[in-house]
Amino acid sequence: MNSDHGKDTIVIGGGIVGISCALFLQRDGHKVTVVDPAVPGSSDQTSFGNAGSISSSSVMPTALPGIYKKLPGMLADPTGPLAIQWRYLFRLTPFLLSFLRYSSRAHVEDSGRAIAGIIHRVHDAYQILLEESGTGDLVVRNGSLKVFKTDQSFAASAFERELLEKNDCRYDVLNEDELRQLEPSLQPIFKHAIFMPDSSTALNPGKIVSRFAEHFVAKGGRIVRAEARDIEFSEGLPRTVVTSNGNLEGELIVLAAGAWSRDMARRLGSSVLLEAERGYHIMLPKPPVMPKRFITFADRKFAILPHQDGLRVTTGVEYAKVDAPPDYRRIRGMLPFAGESIRDLELDEQSIWLGRRPTLPNSVPVIGRSPKYRNVLLAFGHSHLGLTMGPATGQIIADLAAGRDPGLDLSPYRPDR
Ligand SMILES: Cc1cc2nc3c(=O)[nH]c(=O)nc-3n(C[C@H](O)[C@H](O)[C@H](O)COP(=O)(O)OP(=O)(O)OC[C@H]3O[C@@H](n4cnc5c(N)ncnc54)[C@H](O)[C@@H]3O)c2cc1C
Repeated sequence: MNSDHGKDTIVIGGGIVGISCALFLQRDGHKVTVVDPAVPGSSDQTSFGNAGSISSSSVMPTALPGIYKKLPGMLADPTGPLAIQWRYLFRLTPFLLSFLRYSSRAHVEDSGRAIAGIIHRVHDAYQILLEESGTGDLVVRNGSLKVFKTDQSFAASAFERELLEKNDCRYDVLNEDELRQLEPSLQPIFKHAIFMPDSSTALNPGKIVSRFAEHFVAKGGRIVRAEARDIEFSEGLPRTVVTSNGNLEGELIVLAAGAWSRDMARRLGSSVLLEAERGYHIMLPKPPVMPKRFITFADRKFAILPHQDGLRVTTGVEYAKVDAPPDYRRIRGMLPFAGESIRDLELDEQSIWLGRRPTLPNSVPVIGRSPKYRNVLLAFGHSHLGLTMGPATGQIIADLAAGRDPGLDLSPYRPDR
């Protein structure tokens, strides 16, 4: 066993994943420095603008069986769930080819199992950080919903339900009446729903990250506002993180820079097909009857979050370069569907935002020790589930650093899977 207990540790990236790693390492006695040019919890981070679902059930990767056939139609539909900025096609080709290879049924079942392996640990890990940082008020554990307008769209969820069952994720199927009683904010246009009772809703994801960061600093952690630009090696091991604001020396380095992790991962010995799976949100005023929980609308592939500051509408997937300019057409195109789905919703855009999900072709994150350097731990690529998986990832990273058995086979999360 390889124990790094108590070492000077540098965490690159202070989103939900980096801050969670920092907190769990700090609990073990590490002297932790987080380096990030962005303020933890600010709108520069993907962790700020997501849909707030702390999911007990999202075991479906993005690449699904049959996507080959559906892809042309999806890409042609300006309000469809998937978009590609074509000028980046050359760069994206290796990712997309691998993505298509991972869409076979056998691969999807493997990916679902790997995702579920983390999801089952999420609530216990969250509970520790929420309690210790006094952030419990920002998370409600009252389940999540996926709603369907037609018999056909509900029937199309059969594979998803099969995956939920295979992975021991609890769910209930609701009819129209049961749905109306559970979620009176919805228009009565949905014939079916799937209710996931073990999911929670984060009422303000950005504030959760900033409260976690404040707690980390209050406990003696250091946050350096700088960009990690390079790594210097000493006696064959990475030891110095060269930043835009000086050098940081560490015995242990954790890479958790979200969608920006690819170049640094290569520098640290791991080539990964990590891309930015971009997604958008629009904030709307709170409707008179606020939804109680995170809801996905299966027919139009958008989701809503009852955020503390308003109703947040989020969209699906756009593949482009991480820093390509935003294209707000699809998210704006979703608003009429949000309007017909939620009672008395005013479509008055308060703010609009672009985020970058860090995504590998099979939607399974990289969590583990670098195969090349024993003092490097990798924690990125959480795709649609980074808010959900952040604390559980931090716990696993701390287990690895301490030489404890994390109680989970980590081979599906290796960078060289
Ligand atoms: C529209 C949308 C909806 C979503 N909904 C959900 C949801 O409901 N539930 C869920 O679980 N997940 C959801 N997600 C996904 C989730 O938000 C992400 O998986 C998660 O935020 C990733 O966290 P992170 O810490 O890895 O990345 P980030 O939050 O992006 O943080 C990465 C940090 O690394 C820093 N960084 C980058 N480069 C460097 C460098 N060189 N040096 C130092 N620091 C660096 C960045 O500044 C940034 O602060 C959604 C995402 C989107 C876009």
